[in-house]
Amino acid sequence: MIPFFIQKVFYYTWWKGKMKMCGCLFCKIAAHEIPTSILYEDDQCVVFEDINPQAPVHLLAIPKKHITSLNDACDEDRDMLGHLLGVAARVAKEKKIDGSGYRTVINTNAEAGQTVFHLHVHILGGRILNWPPG
Ligand code: AMP
Ligand code: ZN
Repeated sequence: MIPFFIQKVFYYTWWKGKMKMCGCLFCKIAAHEIPTSILYEDDQCVVFEDINPQAPVHLLAIPKKHITSLNDACDEDRDMLGHLLGVAARVAKEKKIDGSGYRTVINTNAEAGQTVFHLHVHILGGRILNWPPG
């Protein structure tokens, strides 16, 4: 039987290698390989400021696991997706936009405007957001 901590080291090495292999920008942010202003982090997700904000508050919540888009999320990701929305609500509260209102957006594939192919939830607030979106 392999000791638990050795299993952990193997898993960590395998996961880091997997993230590096895919060359994904958001995987690199999740791995702290690219300096980003991270507001929240836990074992499943990271929240950071969007580099090109579309509202006074514009954050991105991403899973640490590489999932290309919502289309690629599977049954085992359900709890994590629920967790991601809970974290979105938590950071919205911390940013004091929970009362005035905020929008959570997941763009999926080209016609919806997805440009980074690692699943992410936009959290936008701090101004009036028009509906329907463009
Ligand atoms: P989407 O168009 O839905 O795929 O959203 C991708 C978002 O990632 C855009 O709002 C970009 O401004 C944002 N973005 C791209 N590169 C970075 C980066 N290095 N740090 C933070 N946000 C980024
Ligand atoms: Zn990724």
